[in-house]
Amino acid sequence: MDVFCAIARGEAPAAIVYQDDRALAFMDIRPIQPCHTLVIPRQHAALMKELDDDLMAHVWSVVMKVYRAIRAGDIPHDAVNVLVADGAAAGQEVAHVHVHLIPRSANDGFGLRLPPGGRAQPDRAELERTASLIRAALPQDTKRNSR
Ligand SMILES: [Zn+2]
Repeated sequence: MDVFCAIARGEAPAAIVYQDDRALAFMDIRPIQPCHTLVIPRQHAALMKELDDDLMAHVWSVVMKVYRAIRAGDIPHDAVNVLVADGAAAGQEVAHVHVHLIPRSANDGFGLRLPPGGRAQPDRAELERTASLIRAALPQDTKRNSR
């Protein structure tokens, strides 16, 4: 059992910010910045694709509660990053879906590192080609909303 399942079951300690029957929010034990908060579904899943959209929508509603609290509260910050690492290659360290909320300050030193050539601008044909890869994999009932 991973540590987030243990926290969700009350079997491991955590500084809980919010919890309900489907999700909870707690402090990251190794914060990138003070008030770095994680939101997880209670249901175990390593990747978002394993969870149904209703549950992820609920998780996102909890993300928004915490986000609004960070923005409204007495927490030094200029900005907020909301991040999901969906898989180890994306930087996921605990194999249980979690959303990071990271208060940010100008020049705090944190950031996403670009690969060599990252952010180069491909031509329109290449953008259309990559868009078609995603359109082809969309669920059938959403295709009428794509081109
Ligand atoms: Zn788990």
